[in-house]
Amino acid sequence: MEYVPTIGLEIHCELKTASKMFCSCPNRPDAGAPNTNVCPVCLGHPGTLPVANREAIRLTRLVGLALDSRILEHSKFDRKNYFYPDLPKGYQISQYDQPLCSGGSLEISDGGKPKKIGITRVHLEEDTGKLMHSDDKDHSLVDFNRGGVPLMELVTEPDIENADQAREFVKELQLILRHLGASDADMEKGQLRVEVNISLGRIAPDGKKILGTKVEIKNLNSLKAVEGSVACEIGRQTARIKNGKKVVQETRGWNEFIGQTFSQREKEEAFDYRYFPEPDIPPLAISPGEIEKLKAAVGELPAKKRFRLTEQYGLDAAIVEIFVVNRDLGEYFEKIASELEEWANVKEGDCENSEDQRCRLARLCANYLTTDVLGALAGKSFCEKEFPVSPENFAEFICLIYKGEITSKIAKQVLAEMMKTGNDPSAIITQKGLSQISGKKEIAVIVEGVMARNEKAVADYRAGKQNAFQFLIGQVLAATQGRANPDILKEALLEKLGEVKE
Ligand SMILES: [Zn+2]
Repeated sequence: MEYVPTIGLEIHCELKTASKMFCSCPNRPDAGAPNTNVCPVCLGHPGTLPVANREAIRLTRLVGLALDSRILEHSKFDRKNYFYPDLPKGYQISQYDQPLCSGGSLEISDGGKPKKIGITRVHLEEDTGKLMHSDDKDHSLVDFNRGGVPLMELVTEPDIENADQAREFVKELQLILRHLGASDADMEKGQLRVEVNISLGRIAPDGKKILGTKVEIKNLNSLKAVEGSVACEIGRQTARIKNGKKVVQETRGWNEFIGQTFSQREKEEAFDYRYFPEPDIPPLAISPGEIEKLKAAVGELPAKKRFRLTEQYGLDAAIVEIFVVNRDLGEYFEKIASELEEWANVKEGDCENSEDQRCRLARLCANYLTTDVLGALAGKSFCEKEFPVSPENFAEFICLIYKGEITSKIAKQVLAEMMKTGNDPSAIITQKGLSQISGKKEIAVIVEGVMARNEKAVADYRAGKQNAFQFLIGQVLAATQGRANPDILKEALLEKLGEVKE
C-alpha cells in the first residue's frame, strides 16, 4: 500500500513596523527590560481603545499580492476569545471570515522542477506576550513587550508532499518577506514560526485520496526543524500504520537534539473561540485602484530575479542564488555589470551566446564578488553602504583582469588593497608597483636569468619532461612577483629553450 503524505503549513510572522498593532508602543519584542514596551492598550486595561496599524495592514496586503492572493476589498477584525496568561485582554484581535487576503499560491523548486503550493489565506492579528516558566515549575513570569506586535498568519493548502517541499516553501516565503521589507523573518528570533499539519493518506482504487489522521507539530523555529520534523513524522506514522497501530490525532513537539517528534497533548474538544466582529475597530476597505497602486510596490520577486539574472548574464544557478538571497550584493553586482556594459560598449540584452563579451565580463565579476569579496567578509553579510569600493572602481578592476593587464595573482593583491582603502585599482597598481611587465626584451632578460639559475630544469625540459616547463614559468613569475605577462612570458621561455637547442 502506498501512503501519501498530505502536509499543510500554518506560518506566523512578526511584521517589521515601527509600532505595535493597536497602540503606539515600539515594536521591539526583544529590546529592553521585560514589560517596558507596554501601555494600557497592549496590557488590555479596561476602557482603552485599539487603533489599527496602517503599515501592518499594507505589508500584509503586499505579501498577499506577492503570493497572487485576492485582496479583499472589505475585511474586518474579529475577537478570538480564549483565556491564557500571555493574553491580557482575554481575547486576541484577529481576523475570522474576512481576512485581508484570500487564496493564492507560491511556486517552489521541487528538486529543480517547479511546484505550486496553494495559499488558503493571509490575515493579520496581534502577537501574545511571552511566558517564562521557572525551572522548578514553581511559578511563571510574563513579558508583554511582545504582546500586541503585528503578527501575520499564512495558511497553505495541504499541497506539500514531503520534507524537502516543506523546507523550500518556508525558505522561499522567507525570501519574499525580506524582499518586501515585511519582516526580517529570522526564525531563531521567533519572527517566523511554523506549524505543520501532517497526515498519511492512501490512494483509493478509483484514484481518490483518502485522508489519514491529522497530527500537528508546533513551534518549529528553523528550516532544519521544519524539514527534520516532517521527515521524522512521515517515518513514524508509516511505521505505526504498517504495524497495525492507529495514528492518534494530537499535537506534537520537535526535539532537535534527538531528532524526533514527541507527543505534547492529545486533541481536546475543538475549542469554541466565540469569534465576533471587533466592535472598536471600523471595517477595512480598499479600492481596486489602491490595490493596483500597491501592486507596483511588490517589485521584482525572488523567482523573477532568479530567472532574469540567469537570462541576462548567463550566471550559474548557485551564483544567482547568492545574489537573490544577498540582495545588497546582487544590486551591487548589477551596478558593476551596467558599468561593464558601458565599458564594453555593448547593449544590455539576453546572454544568447555564453561566450559573448558581456556575459564573460559579468561572470568574471560575479566570481570575484562571490568568492573573493564574500571570502574576505568572512561570514559578515555584504552591505553596499559599508563596502568601500565603488561600483565604478570594481568595474575598472574587472576590466583590468579581463584585458589581461593584471594576472589573477596580482588581482588578489589589488582587490585586498581596494577593500582596505577604497582607492581605484589603477592608482593602487602604480603606487604599489604592481603593473604588469609586458616588454618582450625585459621579460627575455628575466627568462635568461632564471634559466641560468635552473640548469637542471632546463636540461629536464630538453629531455622531454613537460613538468619542467611549468616549473620554469613558476620561477619567472616568482622572480617578477607575478607581474610578468603570462602570454609573453610563455612565448619568451619557449623561444629561449628552443634557441639554445639549435
Ligand atoms: Zn502598547
